[in-house]
Amino acid sequence: MTTKKHLLELSKEELANYIKEISQPAFRANQVHDWIFKKKVNSFDEMKNIPKELREKIAKKFTLRSLVSSKHLTSKDGLTEKWLFCNQQEQGIESVLIKEQERKTVCVSCGLGCPLNCTFCASAKGEYLGDLSPAEMVEQVIEIEKITNERVSNVVFMGTGEPFLNYDNVLSAARIMNSPEGLGIGARHITISTSGVITGIERFSAEPEDFRLAISLHAANQKAREKVIPSAKKWKLNRLISAIRRYSRTTRREVTFEYILIDGFNAHQNDANELYELIKGIPCKINCIPYNPVKSDNTLGWKAPEPDICNAFTGIIRDKGIRVTLRQEKGADISAACGQLRAYKNIQGK
Ligand code: SAH
Repeated sequence: MTTKKHLLELSKEELANYIKEISQPAFRANQVHDWIFKKKVNSFDEMKNIPKELREKIAKKFTLRSLVSSKHLTSKDGLTEKWLFCNQQEQGIESVLIKEQERKTVCVSCGLGCPLNCTFCASAKGEYLGDLSPAEMVEQVIEIEKITNERVSNVVFMGTGEPFLNYDNVLSAARIMNSPEGLGIGARHITISTSGVITGIERFSAEPEDFRLAISLHAANQKAREKVIPSAKKWKLNRLISAIRRYSRTTRREVTFEYILIDGFNAHQNDANELYELIKGIPCKINCIPYNPVKSDNTLGWKAPEPDICNAFTGIIRDKGIRVTLRQEKGADISAACGQLRAYKNIQGK
């Protein structure tokens, strides 16, 4: 395993300092930086205007890439693409690209699996092997931009892993993505989604950037929530909602609540009313997502409600004046829900 520092994690200033340290002219730092973030090369040899000797020197000290794409799937409509990347330890990392007319969103993973065991989530099915580094997160976006030749406009930390249990690395990655010298993605276009890690929400309130917060709620009372998100036993719903209220008062930012609609569990009209009572007064929008069945687990017997039940649920909330969307199912044919491709890899053993 390499212990070299990753070039992606160096700020432009740090890179300039290193170039100075090794007595090279200052413009070399700009050239190297351009090769990393603009031309997105994945080998030092491709840095054509850098003398070979210097390239070799940098390569001895730094890593340029740690991921390789090992599997790529495209949905039938061509609008959702999914990659399974492998890191240097040959562990699987999955990322999804969702293409809409007005934006191209990459869903980034922050963990090698996830320790939280949410019942509905495919990420919970595999083993949890650890956290990703900032570079491993940033590379998911760089690789996808490079492979597809598309400019990524939005990033959501909604892949495998719990961002607020890998707080420092996730924030560093978000900063590199946001920096005009890095990927230049607007802070408002970078969303971090948490299952409800209260300490993370508290820290996040104090960050200067305008990054966005999403909360995986999925149930409007403590008892039901514990059934889908076991960690809710620790981070209780009433304390979570208070933390979110404090967050919105401090930052004056709107939050997004994600709510997976599961037939016969949380999609009844009473559930919609209970949800409204819980979150009323918080500047927010609600993103309802029909449950995407996890192929590797048929023991739950869960399914998405019929469309008219989903529409009735969102209708109740909309009528109360809250913005609510019903997410179109995207990429179900390529197992695009969180953790599903990784689970597939584990099942297939490849
Ligand atoms: N751990 C973080 C980040 C993962 S994102 C969190 O929980 O917020 C998790 C999101 O993926 C969920 O909120 C949901 O929007 C989506 N998701 C995961 N499994 C799903 C499934 N089986 N069906 C539909 N959406 C799913």
